[in-house]
Amino acid sequence: LSIKEDMNIVIVGHVDHGKSTIIGRLLADTGSLPKGKLEHVKETCRKNSKPFEYAFLLDALKEEQAQGITIDIARCFFKTKKRNYIILDSPGHIEFLKNMITGASRAEAALLVIDASEGIRENSRRHGYMLSMLGIKQVTVLINKMDLINYDLDVYKKVAYNFSKFLKKIDMNVTSFIPVSGLKGDNIAFSSKNMDWYKGKTVLEMLDNFKTGRKLTDKPFRMPVQGVYKFTKDGDTRRIIAGTVMSGKLKVGDEVIFYPSGKKSKVKSIEAFNKDKQIMSEAGSATGFTLEEQIYITRGEVASILNEQKPRITSRIRTNIFWLGKEPMIKNKKYYFKLGTAKVSVKLEKIISVMNSSTLEHKNKEKIEKYEVAECILKLDRAIAFDLTQDIVQMSRFVLVDDYKISGGGIICEDLEDKETWV
Ligand code: GDP
Repeated sequence: LSIKEDMNIVIVGHVDHGKSTIIGRLLADTGSLPKGKLEHVKETCRKNSKPFEYAFLLDALKEEQAQGITIDIARCFFKTKKRNYIILDSPGHIEFLKNMITGASRAEAALLVIDASEGIRENSRRHGYMLSMLGIKQVTVLINKMDLINYDLDVYKKVAYNFSKFLKKIDMNVTSFIPVSGLKGDNIAFSSKNMDWYKGKTVLEMLDNFKTGRKLTDKPFRMPVQGVYKFTKDGDTRRIIAGTVMSGKLKVGDEVIFYPSGKKSKVKSIEAFNKDKQIMSEAGSATGFTLEEQIYITRGEVASILNEQKPRITSRIRTNIFWLGKEPMIKNKKYYFKLGTAKVSVKLEKIISVMNSSTLEHKNKEKIEKYEVAECILKLDRAIAFDLTQDIVQMSRFVLVDDYKISGGGIICEDLEDKETWV
């Protein structure tokens, strides 16, 4: 008996290029829809005399979720023989950043959709840039709406060639492009009969070929502390340190150390919320543990293991950020910085370079505008624990909040010496 593994994927691309249609197709063609759903949506369309769209399936599912009929919110599932796939719904840039950085589950692979008849748009490039920056290496580009261009090889080649040129410039090694039609179902779950010239994989085959992020368990243990809760077990009152595992594994008896405080103690018990286990691992799982001694830990600290590689701790960092705020990011203004469960105020200390994420044009500027990416130095109000992007990318991703709104995100490239002053 084999237990199927899960994989989180994200589908991005310019609006109207066919994301929802492809998701609808994936659900329908893998038989992953609730019973009777497809017929029901088709029937509703017939009654309202409007043509059926696969994208409606998504709307119908969302409606159900809103009414609380299905358990899970803002997520779609489909299954192949090999895996269960969870699609993180990311209608826009901000949602995408949120999902990638603050969301409980993070994408391990991405599908980037481009409309063959319309070609590459700014958002195709921006999304490509974001995937690359956030360290999502398993990406397949779907050249969609092939039916609209008569399944023409030359058009496909041109779009794929131009986009791969852009991706190369941003150091993204996308290995695969697939010509598809979400509308007709070509090369999504089944090989297309309309494109004899294409000998590669279908979307499902490509996804099944990707690797899951389980190798994160080989990394040092990291669990940002979500909170400390009291509970009673066998008549004993205990304090459980709760959070979501970002990487590595922990077992009873391990000496844990919390950063930045440096407080430590031995693990007494592991209290996984879903299963009772002696070893807790599985990056992405919500879990908790109790300690031998009662030490005072607060939200925002990072639990790690004493004799493993420790996280970096500082209040000054060199970062790559992606700015999405309406107002440009400027110096001398206070923003909030969120990484893991830590939230601190931050200021922009220095801009090293600024670039447009779509045209890749460099500018020499004093502020960072919407859709620009910048290499810059940030000064945090106090030291926090994190890792660099080349070590544990999940522990280096952060979001920036301006006026209560998520306005940007990024990764930490270098830990710099702390300086007392706040610029
Ligand atoms: P999204 O905004 O990226 O989610 O795009 P949708 O999935 O909502 O699709 C936008 C429009 O393009 C809808 O009217 C779809 O029916 C249409 N569309 C999507 N995929 C295809 C395709 O493969 N072929 C054709 N002809 N139309 C498509």
